Amino acid sequence: MINRERLYAYFMEICAIDSEPKSERLLADRLKEDLTALGFMVNEDDTGEKIGGNAGNLIARLDGTAPDQPLLFSCHMDRVAPGVGVKPRVEGDFIVSDGTTVLGADDAAGLAAIIEGMKVLREKNLSHPPLEIVFTVAEELALLGSSHLDSSQITSRCGFILDAGGPVGEIVIQAPEQAKINAVFHGRSAHAGFAPEEGISAIQMAALAITRMKLLRIDPETTANIGSIQATGPTNIICDRCQLQAEARSLDSAKLRAQVEGMVKALESAAAEMGGTVEIEVQSCYPSYRLDQGAEPARRAAEAARQVNLPVRFKATGGGSDANHFNNRGIPTVVLSCGYEKVHTTGERIALDQLASLAEWVVAIISGE
Ligand SMILES: [Zn+2]
Repeated sequence: MINRERLYAYFMEICAIDSEPKSERLLADRLKEDLTALGFMVNEDDTGEKIGGNAGNLIARLDGTAPDQPLLFSCHMDRVAPGVGVKPRVEGDFIVSDGTTVLGADDAAGLAAIIEGMKVLREKNLSHPPLEIVFTVAEELALLGSSHLDSSQITSRCGFILDAGGPVGEIVIQAPEQAKINAVFHGRSAHAGFAPEEGISAIQMAALAITRMKLLRIDPETTANIGSIQATGPTNIICDRCQLQAEARSLDSAKLRAQVEGMVKALESAAAEMGGTVEIEVQSCYPSYRLDQGAEPARRAAEAARQVNLPVRFKATGGGSDANHFNNRGIPTVVLSCGYEKVHTTGERIALDQLASLAEWVVAIISGE
């Protein structure tokens, strides 16, 4: 049903358009033009101004030809660095970059599959429900773009985000909540040789705090990690400042809260016992979600996948995506695997067959064909 050559060419064309986070302007303009040509009404929100970027989220609508509930499809327009000057090419069964940049299949694979799906609907005159498309900015910056999306503009209660690794056919129905902790220990400097009694080592406070934390795999749903610890100075001075950055994730909000509280307590008790102080900042990055396999988008995605002979598998992910915000705002949304591999590296690639399957899946979800 889909036109493979057209899909591959379009995918490579949009990979070649520069679109690092907060610099999505060129790609947003191109997608706006293409969606408009496909009959969509396209709006751009003011997220660009709010986050200091040069483009906002695109929200596009197409009236239905069948009286069914509206469906939402979404992807992000940005890609991680190095993502400027991408030169995609076909190598055997894959599309790859030239090795100096990422390919940007994350998330151009989703963008291209959605656009191809819309082209097929139009040229084959397939009946479809009302459709909404949201292309977000700055997803790679901890979901910044979708966190500013005005979701009151969206009427769908059944969403599909094309933005996960793994073979096409896999459906993400669970993702964790994440929190970040930034802590700065303040001790007291003193000469390490002449008057160590007068000093309070910020480095020792941090070390004590870390030994008191539960870290890495906490339970099947919860993880925690120290990402960085920074303190520098000469050996003859007791170091009075040490900064520590950590994160925790859980599929369960209560477990995340408990984990973060435990880490905060460890930081505070270490500082108090050693006579120093600690400033702690806890930032909640995004909420978790959990859908069951019978939820509308999960059921619909699975049924469509079977129709086009894709192996269906439901899974949980350890990372966040725009679906965390959509679900939290009352739009039940699953994430579809796109078949891309080694994302966020210059070895990123996608198999031609996987890209084609993704576009077929989109058509099947919408039209049942
Ligand atoms: Zn992505």
